[in-house]
Amino acid sequence: MLLIGAALVATFFNNNTAQAATLQAGVGKVDVTHPDGLVNDRSYVRALVLKNESTTVAIVTIDVVAIGEIGSIGNDYLDKVRARIEKELGIPPTHVIINASHCHSIICDDIGERTFQAVKQAADNLVPARVGVGHGREDRVSENRRLIMKDGTQIDVRHAYSLPPDEEVAKVGPIDPEIGVLRVDREDGRTLAVVYNFACHPIQGAQNGGNTADMTGFSSKVIEENLDPGTVALFVQGCGGDINPVFYKDVDHPRNAEPLGNMLGLSTLKAVRAIETKPDDRLKVVSENIALPRSDLATRIFDMEAEQLRLAGSLGGTSLNLKTFIPLVVKYNVAEEFPSYYSHAYLLDKARGRNDLSKLDAENRRNMQNYIRNIHTMEKLTRLNTNLRLLRKHHARGYASGNRTIDVELAGLRIGDFVLTTFPGELTVQIGLNLKKVSPHKHTFVAGYTNGYIYYCPTAEQLKNVGNAQEDSDCLVAPEWQKMYEDKAAELLQAL
Ligand SMILES: [Zn+2]
Repeated sequence: MLLIGAALVATFFNNNTAQAATLQAGVGKVDVTHPDGLVNDRSYVRALVLKNESTTVAIVTIDVVAIGEIGSIGNDYLDKVRARIEKELGIPPTHVIINASHCHSIICDDIGERTFQAVKQAADNLVPARVGVGHGREDRVSENRRLIMKDGTQIDVRHAYSLPPDEEVAKVGPIDPEIGVLRVDREDGRTLAVVYNFACHPIQGAQNGGNTADMTGFSSKVIEENLDPGTVALFVQGCGGDINPVFYKDVDHPRNAEPLGNMLGLSTLKAVRAIETKPDDRLKVVSENIALPRSDLATRIFDMEAEQLRLAGSLGGTSLNLKTFIPLVVKYNVAEEFPSYYSHAYLLDKARGRNDLSKLDAENRRNMQNYIRNIHTMEKLTRLNTNLRLLRKHHARGYASGNRTIDVELAGLRIGDFVLTTFPGELTVQIGLNLKKVSPHKHTFVAGYTNGYIYYCPTAEQLKNVGNAQEDSDCLVAPEWQKMYEDKAAELLQAL
């Protein structure tokens, strides 16, 4: 009796101390697909709540383009949803970290309510958890979308305008093939959640053209379906500002994000399976608001308008139009030597001491060259006009706001050995690579598109490019922003 009593006391005591040192975790997942229109695959808000003795954190990911500003999430969403989470679940606002995958899915109007429900599901179902961190690799699904041209400019790959002639492209920029993975298991080793971070615009689309959570919706589906039932896979978008899916401009196949998502999902699973989780209750959030300098867009607009005028003025006269140009292109490529008639007519010409057909060919070739030159100028103008419209929009809004700075919330998060730092804008990939390099922590990952949205934030170097890429025109910040941000993010990383 005495022995059993002592054993019970010991068990009780051990459980108590084990409990105190244990990290707890819970997950939630709510469908947020808009009820109208053709749906290819569902979109979700997913939540992971983690809790130790002193700290509670909620990581929320949404299959949506942005947290505010563009798309269907309003600018009042973040404050409202955080206030409700604080009031009803006791999690402080800065401990609720909300990331948009940046897919172009159309979501329901009551996203605030559904976000809260996902976090509540997670907070209501906390269980003791083990965590571990790992790195996956996927270099087959993404490409840097800024083409580096022989003349030093950079042109980005978009559907909004034409690509430059192939022979003018000198090289391609970097990608980040790394997948940052946090694995959260239940005490018995069954998986509960996977948080994975990767950099790529999920904008490939679905074959039927329907509403889709795109590449990262498919990758999350693959991960969830191949781990223990109930596992939630939260995709955290990284520094995907200048990263596109591969074959983004393919015109020979219907757009299909699913194979790309499957590859990303399987590569993540490979990393998940290699992670050994352990009891580890380290959980920390640091956050700070900083004011970034607004760019003086007037100068850029002036430069672009001057270039617009120059290009328009350079369009020359041409004998051909589209109707006469296209058949000539076919003829002169199919039969390079004798495009205008059968070879015997050329031979006959020669026998007569004449070269009428050859002269005609030379003239047609000249006219075709002139026509192509105009087309290339027109393509340049389409890029310039599109990017100029973006700049003018931001200039008007910036002017109207009267603010010379933009306030942004930066966060740093530690879960065991997993370290994540976040930013609201579309960071380009080099910034993520820089921060990973300066971080004192081995497993550091960087998320853009988090806790707000301030458009593209390219590097100071990329901002020297005027008018040829979306990232440097759909942008509010002045070049000095980069150093200010990188310094502050490094400080936050040190504090973790
Ligand atoms: Zn984007």
